[in-house]
Amino acid sequence: KKIIIAIDGYSSGGKSTFAKAVAAKLGYIFIDTGAMYRAVTLYAMRQGIADDPAAITAALPGIRIDFRFNPQTGRSDVYLNGENVETEIRRIDVSNRVSSVSSIPEVRAKLVAMQQEMGRAKGVVMDGRDIGTVVFPDAELKIFMTADPRVRAERRYKELTAKGETVSMEEIERNIRERDRQDETREVSPLRRAADAVLLDNSRMTVEQQMEWIDEQLER
Ligand code: C5P
Repeated sequence: KKIIIAIDGYSSGGKSTFAKAVAAKLGYIFIDTGAMYRAVTLYAMRQGIADDPAAITAALPGIRIDFRFNPQTGRSDVYLNGENVETEIRRIDVSNRVSSVSSIPEVRAKLVAMQQEMGRAKGVVMDGRDIGTVVFPDAELKIFMTADPRVRAERRYKELTAKGETVSMEEIERNIRERDRQDETREVSPLRRAADAVLLDNSRMTVEQQMEWIDEQLER
């Protein structure tokens, strides 16, 4: 029987790497909800309205987001109004603004409805901040991921510099700390561990060890 696996946790905690591997193993669809919030943020930045919640809310009907499979990478890329923005949404300037855009209730309402629709057929691994608490409170398996802040910053640094972005460890650490703080303290759907979520601290775990761990969880 196909289920919904909800994965929540802090920024750069290895959620998407883990979620992707779990989805591939089970033949499930992987949905990166952070990419959807990032795409809305990128749209707002391009329009010059990133600091204007009312203007962002008014623009929502003109923002179309979808995922399309990329045979070259073997995973799905996010599209904004038909344009592949998978690389652009990971930039540090987008990362610095995404938490404030994500705190707009109308933005959340639109994206949560889309996510619920995407999960209707089950067989989905979804990662984000509010999946186990708001999007799928009845998910069959909920996981809350954490890792040491230092480990998280190092992972992010490697990812971004590998893509050729010029960024310092200090800026990354500041961004991670600030996003976690904003995600935890916002009024709508703050980042919380659901009462029935199992904790996974992957600071010192390889992906293989994380796959063994998920097998144990699925056997229960
Ligand atoms: O997962 P990622 O770090 O790419 O998410 C970027 C940002 O999007 C988060 O810091 C958070 O502010 C927002 N987000 C959210 N709810 C989700 C997923 C992401 O508010 N379900």
